[in-house]
Amino acid sequence: MGLFIGDTVCAIVQAACDLAFPLILRALTGGLFAEGRDAIMANLLWIAAGLIVMYAVRYGCKYFVSCWGHIMGARMESAMREDLFDQYERFSFSYFDRHNTGDLMSRLVSDLFDIAEAAHHLPEALIVCIIQVIGSFIIMFTIGWQLALAMLLVTAVMAVYMFRANTRMKSVFSENRERISGVNTQLEDSLAGARVVKSFANENLEREKFGRANNAYLASKEGMYRALGHYQGAGALLTGLLYTVIIVYGGYLVATGDMTVVDLATYALYVSLFTTPLQTIIDFTEMFQKAVAGFRRFDEILGTKPDILDAPHAKPLKVTDGHVVYHEVYFNYGEGVTDKPVLQGMNLDIQPGKTYALVGPSGGGKSTTCALLPRFYDVASGSITIDGQDVRDVQLDSLHRAIGIVQQDVYLFNGTVAENIAYGRPDATFDEIVDAAKKANIHDFIQTLPEGYETPVGERGGHLSGGQKQRIAIARVFLKNPAILVLDEATSALDNESEHAVQEALAQLSRGRTTLVIAHRLSTIKDADVIVTVKDGRVAEMGTHDELLQKNGTYAHYYRMQFQGERA
Ligand code: ADP
Repeated sequence: MGLFIGDTVCAIVQAACDLAFPLILRALTGGLFAEGRDAIMANLLWIAAGLIVMYAVRYGCKYFVSCWGHIMGARMESAMREDLFDQYERFSFSYFDRHNTGDLMSRLVSDLFDIAEAAHHLPEALIVCIIQVIGSFIIMFTIGWQLALAMLLVTAVMAVYMFRANTRMKSVFSENRERISGVNTQLEDSLAGARVVKSFANENLEREKFGRANNAYLASKEGMYRALGHYQGAGALLTGLLYTVIIVYGGYLVATGDMTVVDLATYALYVSLFTTPLQTIIDFTEMFQKAVAGFRRFDEILGTKPDILDAPHAKPLKVTDGHVVYHEVYFNYGEGVTDKPVLQGMNLDIQPGKTYALVGPSGGGKSTTCALLPRFYDVASGSITIDGQDVRDVQLDSLHRAIGIVQQDVYLFNGTVAENIAYGRPDATFDEIVDAAKKANIHDFIQTLPEGYETPVGERGGHLSGGQKQRIAIARVFLKNPAILVLDEATSALDNESEHAVQEALAQLSRGRTTLVIAHRLSTIKDADVIVTVKDGRVAEMGTHDELLQKNGTYAHYYRMQFQGERA
C-alpha cells in the first residue's frame, strides 16, 4: 500500500513538472526575455538552478514510478499467482474433469501478467495523464478561452469516436483470449500424447488440428490489430486536427489582435503535452480491458468454492483396523456426462487386512468405486466409512495419508529416482528410501543406473520403462506405509517379466493392509481374499474364486472367457 501511495504521489509531481514548463517558458518569453540583455543576464543563473532542481525532482519521480511501479506490479502478480496455484491445488478431480490444463495454465501466466501490467500503469497512465490533460485545458482556458474552447470541442468529438472504437475492441480481445487458450490446449494435448500420436502415425492429423487452432488465433489477432489500428489512428488524427485548429484559428486570433504570438506558441506546447498522455490513456484502456478480462477469469477461479473440503467439524481419521464399508452408495459424475448414475446402490463390507479384487465389465464402476474412497469425488447419497468414520467427516489430509494408491498410469515428477520415491514421505532418510525400493523389487535395477538413486528420471519418467515406473510408484507407497491400499492393477500393459516383478511387489505391499484392487488379470484374482463382481454400478456377486466358479454366474463366465483367451 505504501508503495502504491508513493507511486501515486510521484506520478502527480511528475505531471505537475510537465505542466509547468510551457508556463515557465511563456512567462520568460513574454516577460523577462523581453526586458533586455541586463535583466536576462542577471537572472539566467537563477533560472538554470530552478530548472535543474525541478527536473532533478522529476527524474526522481519518474525513476520511482518506473522502477517501483513495476516492482509493485510484479509483487502483486507473484502473490496472485500463488493464490491461484493454491486454489488449483484445492480443487477436486471433478474440477479438472471440467477444465483443461492449457486453459488453467494460460490463466496462471498471461492473465496475471496483464493484470499486473495494468496495476503498474494505473498511477502512471491514469494519474499522470489525466492531470496532464485536464491541467492543460485549465491552463489553456486561463490564457484565452476562444482557442481553448475550439480545442476542447475537437477533443470531445474525437473522444466519442475513440470511445466507440474502444467498445468494438472489447469483444475482439476476449475472443483473442479464447483463441490463445485453444492453441495452448492443443499444444499440451499433442505434446503430452506424443507417444500415442507417433504410434498411430497421426502426426498429420495433429498438425492439422494444431494448424486450425493456430490459424484461428492468427485470425483473431489480425482482427485485434485492425481494431487497434482504428483506435490508435484516431489518436493520431486528433493531434493533427488540434494543430490545424491552433494554426488556423490561432492565426486568425493573432491577426485580429485577440491573442499574442507567445500565447499561440504556448498552446502548441500544450497540445504536445496532452495528446501524448491521451494516447497513453488510449493504450491504457487497451491494457485495462485485457486486465479486466484477465481479472474476471482470476476472480471466477478464486470465487469457485472447491467442492471437496474439510467439513467444519472434521477430525483426523483414526485407523484402528482398516475396516472399509460402502453403504448404499449412489454417484454420478455430474449433469450432462451420463444420465444414469454410475454407482447405483453399491454395498461393500471390506474386512480389515484383506484383499478385495473388483472385476466386471468395463464401465461397470470399478474405478469410480475406488475414487470415492479417498474422496476424489463425493458420494451423491449413501456413505463410505473407514473404521466407522464417514470419509466426509474426517480431515482430507489424514484420509489421504491413510490410503495408498497405485494407478495404471504412473506419474513421475521431473527429478531423481530418490526424489520420486521420497514423494511418498518427503522426510524419509536415504536408508528408508533404499528399503522401500528393495521391497518394491526395484533396488537392483536402480543400482545399475549410471548415478544410482540420483539418476534423473526424465520428464514424466521418460527414461524408464512402464514396469520400472510402476515399481517406483509402489516404493513410494511402501514409504508412505498406509493402512489401506487402492490398486489399479496395471500389469496388462507390461511384458511377462515386468508383470511378474510388479505383481510380486504388489503382493508384498498389500500384505496385512486392507486392499481394494481393480483386477484385470487372473493372477491377482486368484490371490484375492474376496472377489467382487461389479456390474451396473453395484455388486453383482461376491465370494472366493472357487465359490464364484461354482455359482456359475458373471464371474465364472468372465473367468472362462479370459482363461480361454489366455490359453489360446
Ligand atoms: P470401470 O472401472 O468399471 O471400467 P468406471 O468407474 O471407470 O468403470 O466408469 C463407470 C462410468 O463412469 C463409465 O460410464 C464412464 O464413462 C464414467 N466415467 C468414468 N470416469 C468419468 C469421469 N471422470 N467423468 C465422467 N464420467 C466418467
